[in-house]
Amino acid sequence: MVGLMLVSSAPCNAASIALPAQSAVPGGVAIVPLDVESEHAPVAMSAGHRVLVIRQDARWIAVVGIALATAPGRATVSLREPAPHFIGFEVAPKQYATQSLKVPPKQVNLSAADLERVEKDRVSIERSLSHWSDLAPQALQFGQPVPGVRSSSFGLRRVFNGESRNPHSGMDIAAPAGTPVRAPLAGEVIGTGSYFFNGNTVFLDHGSGFISMYCHLSKISVKPGQKLGPGDTLGEVGMTGRVTGPHLHWGLSLNHAWVDPELFLKQ
Ligand SMILES: [Zn+2]
Repeated sequence: MVGLMLVSSAPCNAASIALPAQSAVPGGVAIVPLDVESEHAPVAMSAGHRVLVIRQDARWIAVVGIALATAPGRATVSLREPAPHFIGFEVAPKQYATQSLKVPPKQVNLSAADLERVEKDRVSIERSLSHWSDLAPQALQFGQPVPGVRSSSFGLRRVFNGESRNPHSGMDIAAPAGTPVRAPLAGEVIGTGSYFFNGNTVFLDHGSGFISMYCHLSKISVKPGQKLGPGDTLGEVGMTGRVTGPHLHWGLSLNHAWVDPELFLKQ
């Protein structure tokens, strides 16, 4: 039998949707079946954050983002019901490339004012990534937000003048300035900002801790609270923030962990 549809009053429920490619490595996604009989989506946590739980056929599964800084080895999803318990999964190691650059110290040593701004930006970005809404995402496989050549630089470790920086936590898509950036799936605008590194930025909430981020925009055409359907324009490709040329930096976060957008692209 195929095509079994479950009808339920659970808020986090829909017919089965296509899952992202599973890649249980730092920066990847683990698909963890939950052995829970429940009408409603169970509350599941991993590494201190609530995780996305969806109904797939007849059972609940957690779709867990694995932060880039996660140590390989045993990780867990914890559930409080019916009784508190853990479900383990293995995080395999992944070696990302390292890029070492020698640049004029002026370019990497920020002024006190810039550092203060960067810290404010960090708090604002954190707020968007921590957003939770009970809806389930309408899709976990979709197209890219702009046409163009995709970098495969997710996870790249960058070292400037011998000092480690945060790894690259998204996908860069090359596109001419002014190209419309479209929501790849339905979402609500939960934040917009103009950041030191990321430039003009839009955050979309797709439900259950699945958040997307669009950076370096020349123009933002949406406002917080606005609901977008798949294909709706949110802004235009630009080169605001710290960049050398126009491109879209696209970030996807699950349970507060940046994950490789490549895993979510429809083949
Ligand atoms: Zn980038």
